[in-house]
Amino acid sequence: MINKEKVHIIGGGLAGCEAAYQLAKREIPVILHEMKPHKKSPAHKSDNLAELICSNSLKSEKEDSAPYILKRELLQLDSLLIKVAHSCKVPAGHSLSVDREKFSLEITKIIERHPHISVVSKEVKEIPEKVPLIIACGPLPPPDFQKSLGELVGNDFLYFFDAISPIVDAETIDYDRSFWGARYEENSTDYLNCPLNKEEYETFVKELLRAERHPLKSFEKDIFFEACMPIEKLAERGIDTLRFGPMKPKGLVNPLDGKMPYAVVQLRRENNLTDAFNLVGFQTNLKYREQDRVFKLIPCLKNAKFTRYGQMHKNTYINAPHILKPSLEMKSREMIFFAGQISGFEGYIEAIATGLISALNVYSKLTCGKEIIFPPETALGSLQNYLKNFTGKNYQPINMTFSLFPPLKEKEKKKKERRKKIAERAWERLNDYLNKVSGTFF
Ligand SMILES: Cc1cc2nc3c(=O)[nH]c(=O)nc-3n(C[C@H](O)[C@H](O)[C@H](O)COP(=O)(O)OP(=O)(O)OC[C@H]3O[C@@H](n4cnc5c(N)ncnc54)[C@H](O)[C@@H]3O)c2cc1C
Repeated sequence: MINKEKVHIIGGGLAGCEAAYQLAKREIPVILHEMKPHKKSPAHKSDNLAELICSNSLKSEKEDSAPYILKRELLQLDSLLIKVAHSCKVPAGHSLSVDREKFSLEITKIIERHPHISVVSKEVKEIPEKVPLIIACGPLPPPDFQKSLGELVGNDFLYFFDAISPIVDAETIDYDRSFWGARYEENSTDYLNCPLNKEEYETFVKELLRAERHPLKSFEKDIFFEACMPIEKLAERGIDTLRFGPMKPKGLVNPLDGKMPYAVVQLRRENNLTDAFNLVGFQTNLKYREQDRVFKLIPCLKNAKFTRYGQMHKNTYINAPHILKPSLEMKSREMIFFAGQISGFEGYIEAIATGLISALNVYSKLTCGKEIIFPPETALGSLQNYLKNFTGKNYQPINMTFSLFPPLKEKEKKKKERRKKIAERAWERLNDYLNKVSGTFF
């Protein structure tokens, strides 16, 4: 017996629209609250729902890419937004890029005409009392609602910026010039250290200062503070600032010459596969091509391939592993779910995926009281699993990357082969799972 309570969704963006559709197609009545067109965040421009606020790309369609695996799963689960994206595709090489106007318009029509969805065009100022509720307000909610969110999750668990360091492909690092170690610890393999001599360091700082930066939007000007200052800003303070900050060599001895290097860039593993490293403390606002040019001046990274560039931008999100269960329901409040960027996942397709996961979980709770957790080997499950297993202190929103998938049982040295096997395994596990639960929510 289905409990047909109305589900309230705050935010008619990517996550909110996907969630609304998934519930409505299962005949659950939805009230979708969207403040547009009366009020818009500083990044939103269109009057339509499901607006792509920056790029028009929903990432790679290459079969051995992590975004493709996620999109294939979303399509298998009848994702409205991915279906519409395919129907509004524009030529863009290997990526799924769309005509953004057509994309948003098409989704707006489907959502507004759906017999089980009512769109209320009004700003929500406070978290409503009514549940079930999905909070999908995106990265830039208005101040009143942000305040109310802080009260709901605890102000210490609500963050207001992204400070992302670049990530480098492990296969492109020069291991002959780097060495393992942690400051003041013997025999540690915690960090891979990339040493620079005086000349290399000074050239690096000079080029860092010359490099072109992303212009800050007016609403982003206040986001930097000392703990996450971009390295180019730190470098402005003096030639030695970085050597006493993120490029500090103290406590490290280069086994190649038995000396402390002049400066060091530390790389930290991104995952247990050790196939990617992040540049510790290298949050930056440089343009991507400039990051590529300047960071390759670090001798060990001369031939580096960056799988993600550093970024800093205004972005409101919660400390998801602390606040949410893998079903995206709050640990402390029954029937309140989060989805999209506010739930601590970064990117368009991740917003769509979390919209879908939250909706299926609301539906499942209403129908049988159970949580829907996809197998960790699937892309959807790997996002849920990340929440469950994250133990670090500073949570940063995550993208769908191969580092989220559990390693393969069998060793596979060739990256292309490894990725192919991970993709095959994800597809098999998803379909096994769907067969098992068929007739319940799918
Ligand atoms: C400046 C910026 C640029 C980005 N660029 C990209 C990019 O190029 N590619 C990418 O993959 N990701 C990008 N992202 C990250 C992320 O993918 C997008 O923010 C994405 O739109 C998130 O989807 P969402 O559904 O969570 O939020 P949104 O799509 O922003 O939807 C949230 C909706 O909620 C509404 N809303 C908010 N508060 C209320 C309220 N109180 N009452 C009623 N309605 C409300 C808003 O009007 C909005 O329509 C960017 C993020 C930012 C901040």
